[in-house]
Amino acid sequence: MTQYVEQSIIEHIDKFPKYKSHYYRAQTDRMYLPPDMTLSKMYDLYLSDASSDESRKTVSFASYKRIFCTKFNIQRKKPQKDTCNKCDLLAVKIRDTTSQETKLNLEKERQQHHKEAEDARAMKKQEIALAKTYDHIETLTFDMEKTLPMPRIPTNVVFYKRQLWLYNCDVHPGKTGKGFCYVWVEGKAGTGAQEVGSTLRKHISLNLDSKVKELILWLDSCGSQDRNIKLTLLLFVVL
Ligand SMILES: [Zn+2]
Repeated sequence: MTQYVEQSIIEHIDKFPKYKSHYYRAQTDRMYLPPDMTLSKMYDLYLSDASSDESRKTVSFASYKRIFCTKFNIQRKKPQKDTCNKCDLLAVKIRDTTSQETKLNLEKERQQHHKEAEDARAMKKQEIALAKTYDHIETLTFDMEKTLPMPRIPTNVVFYKRQLWLYNCDVHPGKTGKGFCYVWVEGKAGTGAQEVGSTLRKHISLNLDSKVKELILWLDSCGSQDRNIKLTLLLFVVL
């Protein structure tokens, strides 16, 4: 590969917006690509941008990938997994232990943990059934959704721009099962306890039936967003 071509790959990779990880910003300088971006998509864009430059068309995916891996410290954002910290910790411990006895104990602990999760799911189902049956009972399941980059338009140029993040706090009442999306954009507000609390307050004051005397909340126990003293105090005030 000529230095000219190598430089053109570096410049192309440089054009993509990159983000620091919210969770690991203190530990690492590594940058992340936008959530929908993949290396093969970047490579396709590199080739499709090549209208004025014939030399690009000879670049293989392997060469593009080599430059990406050796000249940059960027990662694709991993898709969110359906496991919690405890699941992850147990998986690593089970993998690494050499003692058969420890392995068995850890397996038991993992089974217990999964059983608790299943029990919670079954309880949630029961409570939603109660909400559907009785006027005075309601359940609200709420969570912050994955942040979405805006706008979503199928034009190549958008891939090179820093996008605006859209936040969505989802509230699902058990009675109707009809979801409510409370959305705002970065810069307006963040995604912490204040914002989740405001959403809940708004939903309760605008959409909760006055016949409801018992409100059951289901949440994912994220300390910074929903399981904290701010939410607890807020509920004392609004209910
Ligand atoms: Zn788990």
